[in-house]
Amino acid sequence: MIEVESLRKSFGKIVALDDISFHVDDGELLGIIGPNGAGKTTAIRIIACILHPDKGKVRVGGLDVTRDPIKVKSMIGYLPEEPNLYERFTARDLLKYFGELYGVPRNVLDSRIDELLELVGMGDRATDPINTFSKGMRQRIGIVRALVHDPPILILDEPTMGLDPATATSIREFIRELKGEKTMILCTHYMEEADYLCDRVAILNQGRILDVGTPRELKSKIKGDLTLEISLVDPSRVDLDLIKIEGVKNIRLDGDRLEISLEDRSIIPVVMGGLGGNVYSVNTKETSLDDVFIEMVKGS
Ligand code: ATP
Repeated sequence: MIEVESLRKSFGKIVALDDISFHVDDGELLGIIGPNGAGKTTAIRIIACILHPDKGKVRVGGLDVTRDPIKVKSMIGYLPEEPNLYERFTARDLLKYFGELYGVPRNVLDSRIDELLELVGMGDRATDPINTFSKGMRQRIGIVRALVHDPPILILDEPTMGLDPATATSIREFIRELKGEKTMILCTHYMEEADYLCDRVAILNQGRILDVGTPRELKSKIKGDLTLEISLVDPSRVDLDLIKIEGVKNIRLDGDRLEISLEDRSIIPVVMGGLGGNVYSVNTKETSLDDVFIEMVKGS
Protein backbone atom coordinates (compact mmCIF):
# COMPACT_ATOMS: atom_id res chain seq x y z
CA MET A 1 0.00 0.00 0.00
CA ILE A 2 2.84 2.40 0.87
CA GLU A 3 6.29 2.14 -0.73
CA VAL A 4 9.16 4.41 0.25
CA GLU A 5 12.30 4.09 -1.84
CA SER A 6 15.65 5.84 -1.27
CA LEU A 7 14.00 8.87 0.28
CA ARG A 8 16.11 11.92 1.08
CA LYS A 9 15.21 15.23 2.67
CA SER A 10 17.43 18.01 3.97
CA PHE A 11 16.65 21.31 5.64
CA GLY A 12 19.66 23.47 4.78
CA LYS A 13 22.64 21.61 6.24
CA ILE A 14 20.47 19.26 8.31
CA VAL A 15 19.99 15.89 6.66
CA ALA A 16 16.63 14.79 8.08
CA LEU A 17 16.27 11.66 5.90
CA ASP A 18 19.31 9.99 4.41
CA ASP A 19 18.24 7.42 1.82
CA ILE A 20 15.52 5.50 3.65
CA SER A 21 13.42 2.71 2.18
CA PHE A 22 10.53 0.77 3.69
CA HIS A 23 7.04 -0.40 2.82
CA VAL A 24 3.70 -0.88 4.54
CA ASP A 25 1.49 -3.73 3.36
CA ASP A 26 -2.28 -3.52 2.98
CA GLY A 27 -3.92 -3.60 6.42
CA GLU A 28 -0.59 -3.54 8.22
CA LEU A 29 0.35 -1.30 11.14
CA LEU A 30 3.96 -0.15 10.86
CA GLY A 31 5.52 1.60 13.83
CA ILE A 32 8.33 4.11 13.40
CA ILE A 33 10.43 4.58 16.51
CA GLY A 34 13.52 6.71 16.97
CA PRO A 35 15.02 9.39 19.21
CA ASN A 36 14.10 13.09 18.94
CA GLY A 37 15.17 14.49 15.60
CA ALA A 38 15.52 11.03 13.98
CA GLY A 39 13.35 12.07 11.02
CA LYS A 40 10.05 10.33 11.87
CA THR A 41 7.80 13.35 11.37
CA THR A 42 9.66 14.35 8.20
CA ALA A 43 9.09 10.88 6.72
CA ILE A 44 5.36 10.80 7.42
CA ARG A 45 4.85 14.39 6.31
CA ILE A 46 6.30 13.45 2.93
CA ILE A 47 3.99 10.42 2.71
CA ALA A 48 1.03 12.66 3.67
CA CYS A 49 2.04 15.14 0.88
CA ILE A 50 2.75 17.97 3.31
CA LEU A 51 6.46 18.09 2.48
CA HIS A 52 8.21 17.58 -0.82
CA PRO A 53 11.10 15.07 -0.91
CA ASP A 54 14.51 16.07 -2.30
CA LYS A 55 15.09 12.64 -3.83
CA GLY A 56 13.56 9.18 -3.87
CA LYS A 57 10.11 7.81 -4.54
CA VAL A 58 7.03 7.47 -2.38
CA ARG A 59 4.02 5.62 -3.75
CA VAL A 60 0.71 5.35 -1.95
CA GLY A 61 -1.73 2.85 -3.43
CA GLY A 62 0.47 2.90 -6.55
CA LEU A 63 0.30 6.70 -6.86
CA ASP A 64 3.37 8.92 -6.71
CA VAL A 65 3.03 11.49 -3.91
CA THR A 66 4.70 14.22 -5.95
CA ARG A 67 2.61 13.62 -9.09
CA ASP A 68 -0.81 12.87 -7.55
CA PRO A 69 -0.84 14.67 -4.20
CA ILE A 70 -4.58 15.41 -4.26
CA LYS A 71 -5.57 11.80 -4.86
CA VAL A 72 -3.01 10.59 -2.31
CA LYS A 73 -4.27 13.08 0.31
CA SER A 74 -7.81 11.77 -0.12
CA MET A 75 -6.55 8.27 0.75
CA ILE A 76 -4.85 9.37 3.96
CA GLY A 77 -6.04 10.42 7.39
CA TYR A 78 -3.24 12.24 9.21
CA LEU A 79 -3.00 13.07 12.88
CA PRO A 80 -0.10 15.52 13.35
CA GLU A 81 1.93 15.64 16.56
CA GLU A 82 0.00 18.75 17.59
CA PRO A 83 -3.29 18.84 15.72
CA ASN A 84 -4.27 22.37 14.84
CA LEU A 85 -8.00 22.42 15.58
CA TYR A 86 -10.16 25.48 15.03
CA GLU A 87 -10.68 26.56 18.61
CA ARG A 88 -14.05 28.30 18.29
CA PHE A 89 -15.71 25.56 16.27
CA THR A 90 -17.77 22.98 18.08
CA ALA A 91 -16.55 19.41 17.65
CA ARG A 92 -19.41 18.67 15.26
CA ASP A 93 -18.90 21.82 13.16
CA LEU A 94 -15.18 21.14 12.87
CA LEU A 95 -15.79 17.58 11.71
CA LYS A 96 -18.49 18.73 9.29
CA TYR A 97 -16.12 21.32 7.87
CA PHE A 98 -13.41 18.73 7.23
CA GLY A 99 -15.88 16.12 6.00
CA GLU A 100 -17.26 18.57 3.41
CA LEU A 101 -13.72 19.61 2.45
CA TYR A 102 -12.98 15.95 1.65
CA GLY A 103 -16.23 15.63 -0.29
CA VAL A 104 -18.06 13.28 2.09
CA PRO A 105 -21.70 13.21 0.87
CA ARG A 106 -23.94 15.21 3.21
CA ASN A 107 -26.39 12.35 3.68
CA VAL A 108 -23.70 10.18 5.25
CA LEU A 109 -21.60 12.84 6.98
CA ASP A 110 -23.83 13.46 10.03
CA SER A 111 -24.22 9.80 10.87
CA ARG A 112 -20.49 9.15 10.35
CA ILE A 113 -19.61 12.01 12.71
CA ASP A 114 -22.03 10.68 15.36
CA GLU A 115 -20.65 7.19 15.00
CA LEU A 116 -16.99 8.28 15.23
CA LEU A 117 -17.63 10.60 18.20
CA GLU A 118 -19.33 7.73 20.03
CA LEU A 119 -16.45 5.40 19.20
CA VAL A 120 -13.91 7.75 20.83
CA GLY A 121 -16.19 8.48 23.80
CA MET A 122 -16.95 12.10 22.79
CA GLY A 123 -20.60 11.70 21.82
CA ASP A 124 -21.80 13.90 24.69
CA ARG A 125 -19.40 16.76 23.79
CA ALA A 126 -20.37 17.13 20.11
CA THR A 127 -21.82 20.62 20.51
CA ASP A 128 -19.09 21.99 22.82
CA PRO A 129 -16.40 24.31 21.41
CA ILE A 130 -12.90 22.87 20.92
CA ASN A 131 -11.39 25.49 23.26
CA THR A 132 -13.23 23.87 26.20
CA PHE A 133 -11.56 20.47 25.59
CA SER A 134 -8.68 18.88 27.50
CA LYS A 135 -5.56 17.63 25.68
CA GLY A 136 -6.89 14.06 25.60
CA MET A 137 -10.25 15.23 24.19
CA ARG A 138 -8.49 17.24 21.50
CA GLN A 139 -6.44 14.23 20.58
CA ARG A 140 -9.62 12.16 20.18
CA ILE A 141 -11.15 14.87 18.00
CA GLY A 142 -7.91 14.97 15.98
CA ILE A 143 -8.23 11.24 15.35
CA VAL A 144 -11.87 11.57 14.33
CA ARG A 145 -10.93 14.43 12.01
CA ALA A 146 -8.34 12.13 10.39
CA LEU A 147 -10.99 9.44 9.92
CA VAL A 148 -13.96 11.54 8.85
CA HIS A 149 -13.50 10.84 5.12
CA ASP A 150 -13.05 7.12 5.84
CA PRO A 151 -9.55 6.92 4.33
CA PRO A 152 -7.94 3.49 3.81
CA ILE A 153 -4.70 4.81 5.39
CA LEU A 154 -4.21 6.36 8.80
CA ILE A 155 -0.97 8.07 9.84
CA LEU A 156 -0.60 8.92 13.50
CA ASP A 157 2.22 11.05 14.91
CA GLU A 158 2.60 10.44 18.66
CA PRO A 159 -1.14 9.93 19.29
CA THR A 160 -0.77 9.26 23.04
CA MET A 161 2.02 11.73 23.85
CA GLY A 162 1.39 13.58 27.13
CA LEU A 163 -1.91 11.85 27.89
CA ASP A 164 -2.90 10.31 31.21
CA PRO A 165 -2.57 6.50 31.32
CA ALA A 166 -6.32 5.85 31.10
CA THR A 167 -6.82 8.12 28.07
CA ALA A 168 -3.68 6.75 26.41
CA THR A 169 -4.96 3.20 26.92
CA SER A 170 -8.36 4.00 25.43
CA ILE A 171 -6.72 5.61 22.36
CA ARG A 172 -4.46 2.55 21.97
CA GLU A 173 -7.48 0.27 22.13
CA PHE A 174 -9.21 2.40 19.51
CA ILE A 175 -6.17 2.10 17.21
CA ARG A 176 -6.07 -1.64 17.85
CA GLU A 177 -9.70 -1.96 16.78
CA LEU A 178 -8.82 -0.31 13.47
CA LYS A 179 -6.14 -2.92 12.79
CA GLY A 180 -6.68 -4.85 9.60
CA GLU A 181 -9.36 -2.38 8.49
CA LYS A 182 -6.89 0.47 7.87
CA THR A 183 -3.28 0.51 6.73
CA MET A 184 -1.50 2.48 9.44
CA ILE A 185 1.78 4.17 10.33
CA LEU A 186 2.33 5.05 13.96
CA CYS A 187 5.21 7.22 15.18
CA THR A 188 5.78 6.75 18.87
CA HIS A 189 8.31 7.16 21.66
CA TYR A 190 6.51 4.57 23.76
CA MET A 191 8.13 1.20 23.13
CA GLU A 192 5.40 -0.73 24.93
CA GLU A 193 2.87 0.94 22.67
CA ALA A 194 4.85 -0.08 19.57
CA ASP A 195 5.24 -3.62 20.89
CA TYR A 196 1.53 -3.90 21.70
CA LEU A 197 0.14 -2.39 18.51
CA CYS A 198 2.56 -2.78 15.63
CA ASP A 199 2.88 -5.64 13.17
CA ARG A 200 6.36 -4.40 12.26
CA VAL A 201 8.56 -1.65 13.60
CA ALA A 202 11.14 0.49 11.78
CA ILE A 203 13.93 1.92 13.94
CA LEU A 204 15.05 5.30 12.65
CA ASN A 205 18.14 7.16 13.86
CA GLN A 206 19.76 10.28 12.40
CA GLY A 207 17.78 9.96 9.20
CA ARG A 208 18.65 6.30 8.59
CA ILE A 209 16.74 3.10 9.16
CA LEU A 210 18.69 0.82 11.47
CA ASP A 211 16.33 -2.13 11.12
CA VAL A 212 12.75 -3.12 10.31
CA GLY A 213 11.01 -6.21 11.62
CA THR A 214 8.30 -7.60 13.85
CA PRO A 215 8.85 -6.75 17.52
CA ARG A 216 9.75 -10.42 18.05
CA GLU A 217 12.31 -10.46 15.22
CA LEU A 218 13.95 -7.30 16.51
CA LYS A 219 14.14 -8.63 20.06
CA SER A 220 15.62 -11.92 18.96
CA LYS A 221 18.33 -10.08 17.01
CA ILE A 222 19.77 -8.49 20.10
CA LYS A 223 18.92 -10.79 22.98
CA GLY A 224 16.19 -13.31 22.40
CA ASP A 225 12.84 -13.39 24.16
CA LEU A 226 14.09 -13.35 27.70
CA THR A 227 17.12 -13.13 29.98
CA LEU A 228 17.79 -15.22 33.08
CA GLU A 229 19.44 -13.16 35.82
CA ILE A 230 21.12 -15.74 37.99
CA SER A 231 22.85 -15.27 41.30
CA LEU A 232 25.52 -18.01 41.59
CA VAL A 233 26.67 -20.01 44.58
CA ASP A 234 30.20 -20.38 43.15
CA PRO A 235 31.08 -18.35 40.00
CA SER A 236 34.30 -20.34 39.44
CA ARG A 237 32.22 -23.45 38.76
CA VAL A 238 30.26 -21.94 35.84
CA ASP A 239 30.68 -23.75 32.55
CA LEU A 240 30.59 -21.04 29.85
CA ASP A 241 30.06 -23.80 27.27
CA LEU A 242 26.38 -23.24 28.10
CA ILE A 243 26.55 -20.84 25.12
CA LYS A 244 26.69 -23.93 22.90
CA ILE A 245 23.17 -25.00 23.93
CA GLU A 246 20.81 -24.39 21.02
CA GLY A 247 18.67 -21.34 21.73
CA VAL A 248 21.16 -19.66 24.09
CA LYS A 249 21.89 -16.25 22.53
CA ASN A 250 24.34 -14.70 24.97
CA ILE A 251 26.08 -15.27 28.30
CA ARG A 252 27.60 -12.63 30.57
CA LEU A 253 29.34 -13.34 33.86
CA ASP A 254 29.89 -10.42 36.23
CA GLY A 255 31.09 -11.43 39.71
CA ASP A 256 28.54 -13.85 41.11
CA ARG A 257 25.87 -12.69 38.64
CA LEU A 258 25.29 -14.59 35.44
CA GLU A 259 23.02 -13.30 32.64
CA ILE A 260 21.87 -15.76 30.02
CA SER A 261 19.74 -14.57 27.09
CA LEU A 262 17.47 -17.18 25.55
CA GLU A 263 15.54 -17.45 22.33
CA ASP A 264 12.49 -18.62 24.26
CA ARG A 265 11.48 -20.03 27.62
CA SER A 266 11.42 -23.67 26.49
CA ILE A 267 15.24 -23.73 26.95
CA ILE A 268 15.09 -22.71 30.63
CA PRO A 269 15.10 -26.32 31.99
CA VAL A 270 18.11 -27.28 29.82
CA VAL A 271 20.10 -24.25 31.02
CA MET A 272 19.15 -24.78 34.67
CA GLY A 273 20.15 -28.45 34.32
CA GLY A 274 23.54 -27.31 32.96
CA LEU A 275 24.09 -25.12 36.03
CA GLY A 276 23.40 -28.01 38.37
CA GLY A 277 23.18 -26.94 42.01
CA ASN A 278 25.17 -23.74 41.40
CA VAL A 279 22.09 -21.47 41.40
CA TYR A 280 21.37 -19.35 44.45
CA SER A 281 18.44 -17.41 42.95
CA VAL A 282 17.04 -16.73 39.47
CA ASN A 283 14.98 -13.93 37.98
CA THR A 284 13.37 -13.99 34.50
CA LYS A 285 13.33 -10.74 32.51
CA GLU A 286 11.37 -10.47 29.26
CA THR A 287 13.20 -8.56 26.50
CA SER A 288 11.41 -5.32 25.64
CA LEU A 289 11.56 -3.08 22.59
CA ASP A 290 13.24 -0.58 24.92
CA ASP A 291 16.21 -2.97 25.11
CA VAL A 292 16.27 -3.28 21.31
CA PHE A 293 16.02 0.46 20.81
CA ILE A 294 18.77 1.34 23.30
CA GLU A 295 21.09 -1.37 21.95
CA MET A 296 20.60 -0.45 18.28
CA VAL A 297 20.79 3.31 18.70
CA LYS A 298 23.89 2.94 20.94
CA GLY A 299 25.62 0.76 18.34
CA SER A 300 24.81 2.92 15.30
P1 ATP B 1 10.73 14.12 17.43
O1 ATP B 1 10.71 12.73 18.00
O2 ATP B 1 11.48 15.08 18.32
O3 ATP B 1 9.37 14.61 17.01
P2 ATP B 1 11.42 13.41 14.68
O4 ATP B 1 12.06 12.06 14.63
O5 ATP B 1 9.99 13.49 14.32
O6 ATP B 1 11.68 14.05 16.11
P3 ATP B 1 11.86 15.39 12.64
O7 ATP B 1 10.86 16.36 13.19
O8 ATP B 1 11.51 14.67 11.41
O9 ATP B 1 12.31 14.35 13.76
O10 ATP B 1 13.22 16.20 12.40
C1 ATP B 1 14.36 15.61 11.80
C2 ATP B 1 15.43 16.68 11.67
O11 ATP B 1 15.02 17.63 10.69
C3 ATP B 1 15.70 17.45 12.94
O12 ATP B 1 17.09 17.72 13.00
C4 ATP B 1 14.92 18.73 12.77
O13 ATP B 1 15.50 19.80 13.45
C5 ATP B 1 14.98 18.93 11.26
N1 ATP B 1 13.78 19.63 10.74
C6 ATP B 1 12.54 19.12 10.67
N2 ATP B 1 11.69 20.03 10.11
C7 ATP B 1 12.43 21.12 9.85
C8 ATP B 1 12.15 22.40 9.28
N3 ATP B 1 10.93 22.72 8.85
N4 ATP B 1 13.16 23.28 9.14
C9 ATP B 1 14.41 22.96 9.56
N5 ATP B 1 14.75 21.78 10.10
C10 ATP B 1 13.78 20.87 10.25
